[in-house]
Amino acid sequence: MPTYRLLLLPGDGIGVETIAEVERVIAFFNKTAKGAKFETETDLVGGAAFDKHGVALTDEAMAKAQGADAVIFGAVGGPKWDQVPYAVRPEAGLLALRKHLGLFANLRPAICYPALADASSLKRELVEGLDIMIVRELTGGVYFGEPKEIVVLEDGQKRAVDTQVYTTHEIERIARVAFDLARKRSNKVHSAEKRNVMRTGVLWNEVVTATHKAYAPDVKLEHILADNCAMQLVRNPKQFDVIVTDNLFGDVLSDEAAMTTGSLGMLPSASLGAADPKTGKRKALYEPVHGSAPDIAGKGLANPIATIASFGMALRYSFAMGKEADLVEKAIAKTLDQGLRTADIMQPGMRQVGTSEMGSAILKELGKLAG
Ligand code: NAD
Repeated sequence: MPTYRLLLLPGDGIGVETIAEVERVIAFFNKTAKGAKFETETDLVGGAAFDKHGVALTDEAMAKAQGADAVIFGAVGGPKWDQVPYAVRPEAGLLALRKHLGLFANLRPAICYPALADASSLKRELVEGLDIMIVRELTGGVYFGEPKEIVVLEDGQKRAVDTQVYTTHEIERIARVAFDLARKRSNKVHSAEKRNVMRTGVLWNEVVTATHKAYAPDVKLEHILADNCAMQLVRNPKQFDVIVTDNLFGDVLSDEAAMTTGSLGMLPSASLGAADPKTGKRKALYEPVHGSAPDIAGKGLANPIATIASFGMALRYSFAMGKEADLVEKAIAKTLDQGLRTADIMQPGMRQVGTSEMGSAILKELGKLAG
C-alpha cells in the first residue's frame, strides 16, 4: 500500500482553523482507506512564517514542498502584516510555491450543492446540480509578460504597459490538462479567448485546435469568445463542463462561475505542475479560494468546507482515489442536506454551527458512507 507525503501549510487566520478540520479527515482515511496511507508534516507560511523567521516561506519549508506528494494550503495574510516589506509579505510565500513548483494549471470547480441552490443569485433551476471545472493558465499571460511598467512621458503624463504573452508550449500543456480532465467528466471542453481582437487569442485558438486534433479527438471541443463565455455563465451555466482559458480571463471567469454557487467558504481549488516524464506524478498544491478572513479568525466561525473539499481534490487529482474523493463530496452534501450551516451560508430555518461542529458532522457522514 503506498504512503503519500502531505505538507500542511495552515498559514494565517482561519487557515489554521480549517486545516485542523482537514487533519481530522486525513486521520479518518488513514484509519479506513484500504488503498493508501498519508504521512503529514506541517510548516509555517505567510505572516506566521514572517513572525518567526522574517520571511514568508523558509528554504526548508520550500524543500519540504518540493519533496511532498501534495501541499495542502490554508490561507495567508492579515492586517498585522500590511506594513511588512513587499518581498516578504505573506502572499510572497504562496507566489514562491506556485513559481518553484511550476504550478501552471489552476483548477477551479464550481459545484452547486442542491441544499444551497436557493442561496445563489441565479434561479434554482439554472444552478441546481451545476458542476463546471474552469482550467486557468496560472504562470503566463499578462500578469507576467514583459515589459510591465509605468513610464513618465515627456509631457508629464504616464503610460502603463502590461504585456500579454503566450507560447505554443504554454498553451498546449494547459489544453492537455483540460482534455484529460474532460475525459473523466462529461467529455466536453470550451476554450475561451479573444481571437477577434488579440494575437494571443489567435495563437491560443490555433494551438488548442491542433492539440485537440493530435491528442484528444475523442473529446468535444468548442471555441468561445471570453466575453460571450462570461455572459453564458450567468445565462445558462449548465451548458459547460470544462472551460480552459488564459490567466487573466481565467481569473475573472472562475470567480464569476464560483459565485453562482454560493459562498467563498465553499470553494476549493487545485494548482498542478507538469507531469514527471518518468513517474507521471505532478507537483500539486490544494487550497481554498478564500483568504485568511481576519474579521472572523480565531472565533470558531469559519466554514471548513472549502478546505476539506480541496483535500478531496487532492484525493482525486494527486492520488487517483476517486472513490474516496466522491465520499468527501457526498459527506459534504449530506451534511448540508441535514440543515447544518456555518454563519457564511446560514439560511432561515437552518441550524448554525461553528467550524469544528461542521467538521464533526462531515466526519460522521463520512463514517456512515464508508460503512
Ligand atoms: P477573505 O476571503 O479572507 O474574506 C472575505 C470575506 O469572506 C470575509 O468577510 C470573510 O469573513 C468571509 N469568508 C472567507 N472565507 C470564509 C470561510 N471559510 N468561512 C466563513 N467566512 C469566510 O478575503 P479578504 O477579506 O479580502 O482578505 C483577508 C486577507 O486574506 C488579506 O490579507 C488578503 O490578502 C488575504 N487573502 C489571502 C488569500 C490566500 O491565502 N490565497 C486569498 C485571498 C485573500
